[in-house]
Parts: sequence; C-alpha cells; structure tokens
Amino acid sequence: MYYNTYHDYCRRTFGRRVQKISVNAGFTCPNRDGTKGTGGCAFCNNSTFNPDYCRADVDILRQIDDGILFFKKYNADLFFAYFQAYSNTYGETQEVIGLYRKALSHSRISGLVIGTRPDCLADDLLDELAKLAENHHIVVELGAESCYNDTLSAINRGHTWEDSVEAVNRLNDRNIPVGLHMIMGLPGETREMQLAEAAAISKLPVTFLKLHQLQIVKGSRFAQLYAEQPRQFDLWTLDDYIDFCIDFAERLNPAIVIERFVSQAPREMVVAPFWNVKNFEFVHKLEHRFGERHTYQGRLF
Ligand code: SF4
Repeated sequence: MYYNTYHDYCRRTFGRRVQKISVNAGFTCPNRDGTKGTGGCAFCNNSTFNPDYCRADVDILRQIDDGILFFKKYNADLFFAYFQAYSNTYGETQEVIGLYRKALSHSRISGLVIGTRPDCLADDLLDELAKLAENHHIVVELGAESCYNDTLSAINRGHTWEDSVEAVNRLNDRNIPVGLHMIMGLPGETREMQLAEAAAISKLPVTFLKLHQLQIVKGSRFAQLYAEQPRQFDLWTLDDYIDFCIDFAERLNPAIVIERFVSQAPREMVVAPFWNVKNFEFVHKLEHRFGERHTYQGRLF
C-alpha cells in the first residue's frame, strides 16, 4: 500500500470494517460563545460537517439508530459514535462524560471519536476519559489546523501550535490515542511551509492524521474575504493538490495513519474550489499518482 490507511488500520486492529456514526450532542465552542472569541474561525461554517441524520434536538441514542440505518448498505458491524460538530469536550465534566457514557450504552457502539479544540481539555475530563479508554476504543481528534502561529492568529483560531503540542502530549500521557486535523492551503502559507508541517507532526505521538484542502464555504468569514479580495487565496487545483498530498506523505512518519487527505463540503455550500470529484474518485486518482511516482508514505521521513 502507498500509505498507512484507516481502512488497513481497522482491519489490523479490529479485524473488520468500522463505521463512524456522527452525533450532534448540542455542544457549542469557545470561539463562538465569547470565551475565546466570537464569530468563530475564519474557515468555519459548522453546518458543512453535520450530516442530516444528526440534529442536536434529537436524543443521541436515536441519532445513533438513524446513523446505523443510514450506513446499512456498507455492511459494517463495528460502530463508533463520532462527536463531530463544534467542540465536544467543551462543557461541565460530569455532563460531558454522561453524554459519552450514554453513547457507549448503545448496544451497537463500541467506541468514541471525540472532535475538539486543543485548548478544551480539562484535567478532570482527561482523567475520566482515560478511565473510559481502559475498556473502550476512545480517540480524541484535535483541530490543530496549522503549525504556524501567524496563520492561527490570522484565522482567529484562538489557540497556538504549542497548545496543540501540549494537548497531544497530555492525551498521550493518559494512553488516549490522538488524531490531528490540519488544513492545507491557508492564506500566508507557502507550499514549503506546509510540507514542513509533515516533519513537525511526525515528531508527535499522534496515531491519526486528517488533511483537508482549504475550501471556502458559504457563511464563513473567508467567504466574505474571498468575495472582496480573492487574491489573498491561492486555492488548490485538483492535480496540484494530489501531488502536494504525495509530497506531504513522503515526509510523514509512516506509523501515522492517514485517515483522509480531502474533505468536501456539500456542493451547495462551496464557494471555491469545486473539483467535481467524489471522495472515492479522489482516492483513486491519488493512488494512481502514487504509483506513477513510484513512491510511498515515509520515503523521505
Ligand atoms: S472550527 Fe471549531 S473551534 Fe472554530 S469556530 Fe468552528 S466549531 Fe468553533
């Protein structure tokens, strides 16, 4: 295989295919409610990553039932609840842990994937999570987005790269596997700067990585900026991004599982770029190009 895929990781670890079921537990985020800031991160419109079957006003056990039904055609029999929308550790610890326990009480749910910000991890919450992780597959997915503090400041992220590194280490100290989420193509970052992020990530004890090309989505602050000053953005073409992903993977620690290289908001939400490829088509093109280049993840690590 050209890179360390999530599919292979699941086969190695669980012996079968895993399906994540998104749940919206009604969290908000400190970058919207005024604790860290208001208005949120410049790229964010949370409705782009919230599937139709999960709505915060529906009980999470019902959301899980609906999600399992939605994915029935893929014949998975191992399911993780994916706390995806907003910052899913942002709340009073016992209430947050109560939601996790509720999801785990569903007879078909074997683990949790919890998406959050690196600055939303209270010590007592991590201690409780570590206890849950003794008997369940628990992953915390951190939105780091960039290794560069100038970028993080410009996108109004409200935390630093050092916060991300510290969060990874605190989770790792408690034996909780960590995923990082990074955006490629943020304004102000050159291709070389972004490739250098592979080396920075490779030094950390992270298990999973999700890359995501910058998409300008409606309702975000970037959408407004793009309308006024499009030259601030250097958006990826499909072919260029595929070659970039391969360059990045070559520099990445081969032990890190690359869960995805691409994420696509619903068509009606996208301002630019729109590539008109489905995710599986992107993966086919990527693997074909890996083959053409006779290379693989970690070749330059
Ligand atoms: S990306 Fe996450 S942290 Fe930023 S505004 Fe959106 S929900 Fe909040």
